[in-house]
Amino acid sequence: MRSLVDTLRERHELAPNQYLALLTMHDPQVVEYLIGQAREVAQQQFGRGIFLRALIELSNVCRNDCLYCGIRRSNRHVARYTLTCDQVLDCCEQGYQFGFRTFVLQGGEWGEERSQWIADLIREIRQNWPDCAITLSLGEHPRETYALWRDAGADRYLLRHETHNERLYSLLHPRELTIQHRLQCLEWLKELGYQVGAGIMVGAPFQSLKAIVEDIQYLIDFKPHMIGIGPFIPQSDTPLGRFPAGSVDLTARLYAIMRLAIPHALIPSTTAMATLASDGRCRGILAGANVVMPNLSPVENRSQYALYDNKAALGAESVQGIKLLEDELASIGYHIDWSRGDSPRQ
Ligand code: SAM
Repeated sequence: MRSLVDTLRERHELAPNQYLALLTMHDPQVVEYLIGQAREVAQQQFGRGIFLRALIELSNVCRNDCLYCGIRRSNRHVARYTLTCDQVLDCCEQGYQFGFRTFVLQGGEWGEERSQWIADLIREIRQNWPDCAITLSLGEHPRETYALWRDAGADRYLLRHETHNERLYSLLHPRELTIQHRLQCLEWLKELGYQVGAGIMVGAPFQSLKAIVEDIQYLIDFKPHMIGIGPFIPQSDTPLGRFPAGSVDLTARLYAIMRLAIPHALIPSTTAMATLASDGRCRGILAGANVVMPNLSPVENRSQYALYDNKAALGAESVQGIKLLEDELASIGYHIDWSRGDSPRQ
């Protein structure tokens, strides 16, 4: 089994049944070998510096009805909010003072009538903080909208493909959403020159390990700059709210596999990891992740962006708790890298 890890590290690719073997193996020494090899590769690429992205949760208004997501359109328990332009600029100012050089605007998916408002906001941020990277995570839109935002100054776009498996995609999403369109959006984003992030939830209801293997293969083919992978966590007001959460161990194992497959990828140790286990963020980093995304949203809105139950948004998970994060990273021999943290290969 160790030889599979060595082959993945050398050739960056395995056969489907070999990924399956890595995902299912039980021998703790080989699991540790996989994780250790991935850590070594991450350190070769990025040293022991962890890139930060300040996350601004722009709005919990969403036109979609994804069955797993707490801010889905039909969840009547959500108090909806949208930040004003001034609120977002205040967040950026605060983040900049803390030392952040990347802002991520994430939110529910809006109709195209609001696209110009977002373009104007991007332009303001670009003008005020020209040395910062602007990342968007605002869902699926026409190519022209992505082009408008790119022209306004956006650099990066996060759009998890969620699952490459058509059947699973249809079990997790309403009929009007298709994996074909999701993948088309990712292609457009790449063509338009964004640094692009794709990824999945681990342990999503009905997900098989074979489906995860398909995702690994898709990610290796597509070669996104960023790979966003986090465990599924149920949100009690959603149709999938009674399913169990995904596994931190399996998610870390997947970080390790993706690190060996695409050594230069930017891989966040996600908030969902920190939510499920107090050491989840560190376990992700020790398995090859190299990015953390602290929350910079106004504190009063954070509980309203409840994608899943008990989502971590304070302490080391927040911009205000950056000292805690620094200490946490130092305890495992890492430090914050305050640069924009661009993809080493663009
Ligand atoms: N609307 C944008 C989109 O669709 O990409 C960005 C916001 S969306 C809420 C961000 C990500 O949250 C999704 O890609 C999904 O993977 C994740 N997410 C949503 N519900 C989740 C849950 N219950 N557990 C874990 N992750 C979840």
